[in-house]
Amino acid sequence: MKMEMPKPITFYDTMTGSKRLFEPLIPGTAKVYSCGPTVYDYAHIGNFRNFVFVDILRRTLQSFGYRMVHVMNITDIDDKIIRDAAGEGIPTTELTRRYEKAFFEDCRFLKLEPAEYFPRATEHIEEMVDLVVRLQDKGLTYRAEGSIYFRIAGYRDYGKLSRIDLSGIKSGARVDSDEYDKESLRDFVLWKGHREGEPSWDTRIGKGRPGWHLECSAMSHKYLGDTFDIHTGAEDLIFPHHENEIAQSRAAYGGEFVRYWLHCAFLNMKAQKMSKSLGNIVTIHELAESGINPRAIRYFLLSSHYRKPLVFAEESIEASRSAVERLEGLVRRIRDIHKSGVIKSGPHAGRITEKARETFYQGMQDDLNTSKAMGGIFEMVREINPLVESQDLGAADAEAVLVLLKEVNRIIDVLDFSDEILPGEIEKLIEKRQEARRNRDFKMADQIRDDLRSDGIILEDTSEGVRWRRI
Ligand SMILES: [Zn+2]
Repeated sequence: MKMEMPKPITFYDTMTGSKRLFEPLIPGTAKVYSCGPTVYDYAHIGNFRNFVFVDILRRTLQSFGYRMVHVMNITDIDDKIIRDAAGEGIPTTELTRRYEKAFFEDCRFLKLEPAEYFPRATEHIEEMVDLVVRLQDKGLTYRAEGSIYFRIAGYRDYGKLSRIDLSGIKSGARVDSDEYDKESLRDFVLWKGHREGEPSWDTRIGKGRPGWHLECSAMSHKYLGDTFDIHTGAEDLIFPHHENEIAQSRAAYGGEFVRYWLHCAFLNMKAQKMSKSLGNIVTIHELAESGINPRAIRYFLLSSHYRKPLVFAEESIEASRSAVERLEGLVRRIRDIHKSGVIKSGPHAGRITEKARETFYQGMQDDLNTSKAMGGIFEMVREINPLVESQDLGAADAEAVLVLLKEVNRIIDVLDFSDEILPGEIEKLIEKRQEARRNRDFKMADQIRDDLRSDGIILEDTSEGVRWRRI
């Protein structure tokens, strides 16, 4: 089998503030860490803008030929979880398992591909304690009122990612809460000392629980090593969360930590950032209950570039729904032509398809510019539709369009090709079956024959080889 080089792609890296060609540490493999959900409530559509971006990143890298090692953490212990579980009078795990399950349902609803690993914070306490001990050994921590803090003045590069002004910082000023803004730039908490009524772990650094920032450093190290390729998150995580991750990881493990920082812009409702505190939430759970087409939401979230602000409005969902319908309409008409088997070739179809393919990949290779990429595809729709009307499109042209749309759909996944199988794919499966038979793997051979039959394809073994026909 011939090894193909993955397609080149550039990413905008927040750390350097520039677009850079993606060069992974291990050629052909992309090691990616994504800050995942805090499972204390249903996720809102703003959270899922970021998760859909992560899905597009994943699928694009895979379709470009990279092998993925992708980790997304599940935050199942933090201030909000403790507050809400106490409010309901239930153990924190009961609350977190409920919303973790809801999160995965939302992911399936929006067709997100699962990461390779979804580690839970509470199942990595030992790794987090180990990280704190390493920082203690380097003299970067101190204890105050039963908790352990990271002394940011001890880490020379603190603030580089967010370009924060460190001049006003007072040594020994601390912050206990997991979330805070730039105005409260202080030493942050690594390990929170035990408080009555809060879940805690008895460990060699004392009884308590981890601060939020600690978990991503400990878990990315466990699954991806000292240095990995890409770290993703919503843009509000740049400070303090990612800044703190960098300080902990680089100080403790000594590696480069992250080579490309990718941040997804907010989803706005009118002029305000969408977040829980504003009370203008639309949860995916609510949207699913409302019977809305999930493909319209997925398309809405993916169709503008992830670094551009996006506004959530009913009209935009409506526009996305009709965009998906236009694509589906073309697929339907093209399939009919393809099935008709009329062999003729229009003068322009080949060129139109090639141009669309080029624009699509140029867009995706340029920092996942989905808006440019899909612009190319819709241009093709505009140009192919009249050829369909005037019957200037033959079966071969139709197949070329279908092949491209299937390629595009490996990334955008808003079209349904489940019942469509093209001659090229049938030939490949027949070849695979022949090989299975040569290897006397009759179970596999029969399986392929049965699968094809359920797709409406009958195989006939003849003296001249295998023939196929549609039922
Ligand atoms: Zn994180």
